Amino acid sequence: MNVQTAKKLKGSVYENVLRQFDRAADLIKLDDGVRKILRTTKNEIIVHFPVRMDDGRVEVFTGYRVQHNDILGPFKGGLRFHPAVDIDEVRSLATWMTWKSAIVNIPFGGAKGGIQMDPSKYSIKEIERITRRFTFALGFNIGPEYDIPAPDVNTNPQIMAWILDTYLSTVAPGDRQRSTHVVTGKPLESGGSIGRDKATGQGVVFCIEEWAKEKNFDLSKATYIVQGFGNVGSWTAKLLKRLGAKLLAVEDVTGIIHDPKGIDPEVLAEFVAEKKGIRGFPGAKEIDHDTFLQTEADIFIPAALENQITAETAPKLKVKLVAEGANGPTDTDGDAVLQEKKIDVIPDVLCNSGGVIVSYFEWLQNKRSEFWELEEVDYKLRKKITTAYQKVADVRNTLKTDPRTAALMVGLLNLDKSYKLRGIYP
Ligand code: NAD
Repeated sequence: MNVQTAKKLKGSVYENVLRQFDRAADLIKLDDGVRKILRTTKNEIIVHFPVRMDDGRVEVFTGYRVQHNDILGPFKGGLRFHPAVDIDEVRSLATWMTWKSAIVNIPFGGAKGGIQMDPSKYSIKEIERITRRFTFALGFNIGPEYDIPAPDVNTNPQIMAWILDTYLSTVAPGDRQRSTHVVTGKPLESGGSIGRDKATGQGVVFCIEEWAKEKNFDLSKATYIVQGFGNVGSWTAKLLKRLGAKLLAVEDVTGIIHDPKGIDPEVLAEFVAEKKGIRGFPGAKEIDHDTFLQTEADIFIPAALENQITAETAPKLKVKLVAEGANGPTDTDGDAVLQEKKIDVIPDVLCNSGGVIVSYFEWLQNKRSEFWELEEVDYKLRKKITTAYQKVADVRNTLKTDPRTAALMVGLLNLDKSYKLRGIYP
């Protein structure tokens, strides 16, 4: 699938977010005032900023930061560098972040941001200057106790280190050492947390393990397919391999590969690190998008972009479970088809929350000048995410509702309580 197709498929993602929200809000009879607040983003920042290219030309870029809600804690959410980034997409991603933190019960609100650009067209030096100038343009709209970015599509720990360095250069020298939690997903050497790189994939796998327990399903014999082989897709695949499961097909922006004998995700990750995509992976056959969707497997892990599972594509799936590593991969029509086909779903706001959970741990470690061991990070992550999984499963089973609505109900009840206690100023 190319970007054009992705854009065409996208439609308005925010309308989808509001449909998901209204369904859960109706079921819990959410107060009208709170409903109005949560249907609206708090701040939407759009910046246009110039950057000098390697050949001396100046280009002007458009960057976004949308802050949806901060009743539970500082705004929190990733930054995406992608041609399809626009206000509708960023608004949606920011809103999902609010639900996510509320569902897994961490003291963060929701935000998201990004730059509309194709990073593959720029040199590493240009990406550094773009990142630094974007950070400068955002100014004090981000901050360690106010709004904390993290990696998302096409951004990584190196980019977080540049954001950190730029931000710290703008604060008073005496404030620098206590501001390192302005961004999470940093490299270990710049105050990052051990386990943050794999955190989202690890959270996806902890959720899949809970699902397998519920269904009495043996993961050591499972087969799975993955869309997107970046941070989330590759870590999920590598960690599922450790449980004995077999990877049958992978799709990324460069191509789609299939091997009925199984693809080794560790070897594929090394290949991708060198070749920047899965295309040409030795031993695997190239297939088209439709064949990929129709692959018979136990689990499908979408880990790329929004609106991939729709009324058009969902009927093609031949899996038992969709574990949403990506944000917003299924629209409301796609959800209806999955329910009809009795395909289970672990919704994004729960399934991929491992990233923000370990970002919270990184933020805490920075505030306390601590470094936790991997065992501690993994133990705390498993506890947080499985507690949330159980809460969502209880609501789903008690109210006989779909898992996405159940998850949103858990989050909305949390937010509603906070509004009831604090009231509305003045
Ligand atoms: P990434 O940039 O590391 O990887 C993105 C992957 O998606 C790449 O393999 C890329 O080739 C593929 N992709 C991009 N456009 C595509 C297209 N049009 N068709 C097919 N494949 C395409 O990004 P990531 O951090 O792994 O994020 C992936 C998803 O997971 C996003 O929805 C993101 O919001 C979500 N997510 C990420 C994190 C995190 O910690 N990084 C946390 C929670 C959710």
